[in-house]
Amino acid sequence: MPVLLRAVQADITTLAVDAIVNAANTSLLGGGGVDGAIHRAAGPALLEECRRLGGCDTGDAKLTRGHHLPARWVVHTVGPVWFGGTRGEPALLAACYRRSLEVAAAGAVRSIAFPSISTGVFGYPFEAAAQVAVASVRAEVGRWPLLEEVIFCCFSSGDLAEYQALLAEQG
Ligand code: ADP
Repeated sequence: MPVLLRAVQADITTLAVDAIVNAANTSLLGGGGVDGAIHRAAGPALLEECRRLGGCDTGDAKLTRGHHLPARWVVHTVGPVWFGGTRGEPALLAACYRRSLEVAAAGAVRSIAFPSISTGVFGYPFEAAAQVAVASVRAEVGRWPLLEEVIFCCFSSGDLAEYQALLAEQG
């Protein structure tokens, strides 16, 4: 079965998927944006679990339980800060999607939802980031036989339209 890729407009903390991805920072000790929302919804036990992980490099990902979230797992990945595109940002962002899927496979994940990594505080231009997101997921999903669905979770209707246009294009 081919993996279904789709975009929705939602607060990612409400999604009842096997895993949600957190756009974290290298400390893994919480932050603003989607990171703050995930920690608030998961409860303090998530922070306790994150403390034991010893941080995470940019472009890498680590797995925790979802605690009070509807999602069973949280994949914490660290996107690149945007410096104008001259510091390897596209390759680092692609690595976030690749590593997140690898780490999710360790939890036998069938459905996973990604936020638009790096496009908030980290300043990555949204359209360019969405192109990297869709291209890297398309390139990687075939490696994971258990995976059934990848959701791109958008916070605004404009973001959703962007993803829907990309997903309608031939892969
Ligand atoms: P980063 O530090 O990687 O830029 P941010 O959390 O600042 O991460 O933003 C990443 C993206 O997540 C942005 O597009 C932002 O609109 C979106 N976002 C923020 N809160 C949520 C949420 N609760 N659910 C889904 N997406 C969210």
